[in-house]
Amino acid sequence: MSVISNHMPTAELQALDAAHHMHPFTSNAALAKRGARVITRADGVYLTDSDGHQILDGMAGLWCVNVGYGRHEMAEVAARQMKELPYYNTFFMTTHVPAIALAQEVAKLAPEGMNNIFFAASGSEANDTNIRLVRTYWSVKGKPSKTHIISRKNAYHGSSVGSGSLGGMAYMHAQGGMPIPGIHHINQPDWWSEGGDMSRDDFGLARARELEDKILELGADNVAAFIGEPVQGAGGVIVPPDTYWPEIQRICRKYDILLIADEVICGFGRTGNWFGSQTYGISPDIMTVAKGLSSGYQPIGGSIVTDEIAEVMGSTEFMHGYTYSGHPVASAVALENLRIMQEEKIVEHARDVAGPALKAGLETLADHPLVGEISIKGMMASMPLTPHKESRAKFAAERGTVGTIGRDRSFANNLIMRHVGDRMVVSPPLVITEEEIDVLVSRARKALDETYQIVKDEGLLKPAS
Ligand SMILES: *Cc1c(COP(=O)(O)O)cnc(C)c1O
Repeated sequence: MSVISNHMPTAELQALDAAHHMHPFTSNAALAKRGARVITRADGVYLTDSDGHQILDGMAGLWCVNVGYGRHEMAEVAARQMKELPYYNTFFMTTHVPAIALAQEVAKLAPEGMNNIFFAASGSEANDTNIRLVRTYWSVKGKPSKTHIISRKNAYHGSSVGSGSLGGMAYMHAQGGMPIPGIHHINQPDWWSEGGDMSRDDFGLARARELEDKILELGADNVAAFIGEPVQGAGGVIVPPDTYWPEIQRICRKYDILLIADEVICGFGRTGNWFGSQTYGISPDIMTVAKGLSSGYQPIGGSIVTDEIAEVMGSTEFMHGYTYSGHPVASAVALENLRIMQEEKIVEHARDVAGPALKAGLETLADHPLVGEISIKGMMASMPLTPHKESRAKFAAERGTVGTIGRDRSFANNLIMRHVGDRMVVSPPLVITEEEIDVLVSRARKALDETYQIVKDEGLLKPAS
């Protein structure tokens, strides 16, 4: 057995990685040429790579490390739980203390009347649960024809066949036989890219009413549910117009369609409330959670449901579950994460301190020649890059060309800022301080300045015609 240590030369680690490791959402041949960045440790909001760079993690890992890195309490809880009961399942009439305690705590934090959770090990798994759950729910209620699920283009709900089908990423659907039948995608509420001459509010209403059109087209008796992220994350932090969610809620109620809020990113403080649904004043029937539930320290997710759904589902045997549903170590760590969130008032910090500071900081970038606007809700934000602000023009170059330059310049300036197409995205740990936000913004500005220079030099500052 070889011993892989943090002290091996970076090039050696990269060569081994390239030889044996297939990365998600990556062209592995291209990565092998360039060499993956090797992250060796992390503390607070800073990552350290194998060359010793201190990198500010403006993405909280993948939108998940809400309490920041280096929380030894979490490690201690995990070690204790592993010694006491490293694994047991929750099938076959058994349970264990960590799953009980976490389910109770989630019920306490979730909106009124949502007192049950079905556990999974990830957001993808939880959304797969939701597909079968909503169809089974309607079938038990004597409406087995209600099977169709409506989602949005450019939504992200996971990468398994079911959750990837719920998602609306065309480039994902192009590979491997997705979407599965019975899933439909309406247009997203992305005013900046697709709003044309409409006001934001009119556009929000128009996009919400596409749900009504789709329900009428399919027949309400055939529609089980609508699913949406309160704020689309992986799609580029698309903050919907204020008119959008109330209208979606109204339509779901009118036609007796279940509303699934995918809270995998928005949940547990990201938008400044415990759940994005609260930020938008909606009452979903199901909330998908993962990521922030454990701050990424352990893989865990789940579907939080209303009491009515729990009761209906409880009247039958739901032939569904995962080996790691309610995994004891993951549950114990998630519970510790929720304790830290509450004791340190991290949601309040996100709402009252870090969120406003991030907004103020990013707004100083709004007049940068490349930045179209600052799109922000709580602690998730994006900046669409544009060759022409007034017309909200896209670049003539292939989508993502300029965004990739922006991402690379961020990395070069020791800031993790992601790109989605030509949008730059940030979603830092919720615990980030005002001083650290200043560092984030100044590195982002430098990255944008360098990107602008490159874009100009390479003749890419041309709007698409
Ligand atoms: C990340 C994400 C998922 C998928 O979660 P995994 O844990 O990666 O399976 C689902 N929904 C949303 C909104 C996400 O951001």
